[in-house]
Amino acid sequence: MTDDRIEMLLSGFKEHFGAEPEALMRAPGRVNLIGEHTDYNDGFVLPVAIDRDIMVASRSRDDALVRIYSLDFNALTEFSLNDISHDSENTWSNYPRGVAHFLKEEGYELRGMEAVVTGNVPLAAGLSSSAAMEVVMAMTFEKISGLEIDPVKMALICQKAENQFVGVNCGIMDQFVSRMGRKDHALLLDCRELEFDLVPLNLEGVNIVVCNTSVKRGLVDSEYNKRRSECERGVKILDDFLPGIRALRDVDVDDFQKYHHHLPETTEKRCGYIVRENVRVLESVQAFEEGDLIRFGILMNESHIGLRDEYEVSCPELDAMVEIAWSTDGVIGSRMTGAGFGGCTVTLVAEDSLEDLVSKVNKEYPERTGLQPEIYICTAEDGAGSL
Ligand code: ADP
Ligand code: MG
Repeated sequence: MTDDRIEMLLSGFKEHFGAEPEALMRAPGRVNLIGEHTDYNDGFVLPVAIDRDIMVASRSRDDALVRIYSLDFNALTEFSLNDISHDSENTWSNYPRGVAHFLKEEGYELRGMEAVVTGNVPLAAGLSSSAAMEVVMAMTFEKISGLEIDPVKMALICQKAENQFVGVNCGIMDQFVSRMGRKDHALLLDCRELEFDLVPLNLEGVNIVVCNTSVKRGLVDSEYNKRRSECERGVKILDDFLPGIRALRDVDVDDFQKYHHHLPETTEKRCGYIVRENVRVLESVQAFEEGDLIRFGILMNESHIGLRDEYEVSCPELDAMVEIAWSTDGVIGSRMTGAGFGGCTVTLVAEDSLEDLVSKVNKEYPERTGLQPEIYICTAEDGAGSL
């Protein structure tokens, strides 16, 4: 599969640029196992880089021109590094443009290049093809221009490209794990300190399954902003009792129990979820360290219940998908993943029961929702690198 894709990339490069590439880079998509909406509360997340990626073949040029051909969109984009403008036609090219813009702003001297890109991270399905695109482009500019970019800095530059050039408000998790993930590991990220630990998963005989509800995440922007302000409001009120706290990350469960009655009802529910979700992430790491997948599964389920009932970012389709998984023998745990109001669930299932899960989802989900699900069976793979 990978070999076929590389073959395609090389022949694409030859066809469009009439030569051999100098560099072949890749960056993966991701799925978050647990730790939802904790990122903007300075908390913890636990994503894995997955076995779907975007690949780029490239060759440097002697001038400042960047020419990128997308095999998936059958389109060429062209821009000068001296004048990086938005492209309203080839919107996919705003990712490399944004990355180049902010690499330059950080003082990196970039060389022009020719590049061909192809990916198999499904677009807008919740697996963060956008982060894969940004990171693979940053890796390509790094290689082509003979630079050495600190990986954390690279992730931050990629995030900035998405926030400020493409105009999508996202945290640092996706770019971080796409850059730094490791095969058979999850990545525990401290979203305040930007420190991380690689956590061995020991998933022999267990599959990570991502199920797409096929619900487009409509409400997500306005509701996302409301959740953020509820969290900020909670911190402001709790600060009277817990002086010096900066974010919900600084509130532990005991303190929350002591002071939660000072919060308005909705704020209390939102903040309670975040405080407990942060604890669940850290307990998940412990569960993986102890090889206790059953415990991790329970934490996944509790996370979903919190997102559904306290944080209220689930939707009937996500709940249906999770309930179908919960009712399948061999499922270890299941929860919504991503911002919510649609998108995907993530499920851990014993290999023996994978087929049952897939057929139950394919049968019951359309019956319950009238929608067709998409199912991605994933493994935890290395973050970005050369091919
Ligand atoms: P998600 O990150 O959830 O997959 P986004 O809407 O954030 O969805 O990002 C999807 C966008 O990323 C696509 O519309 C496209 O512009 C860009 N992209 C993703 N994959 C590719 C690809 N293989 N080639 C070119 N651009 C891509
Ligand atoms: Mg995205």
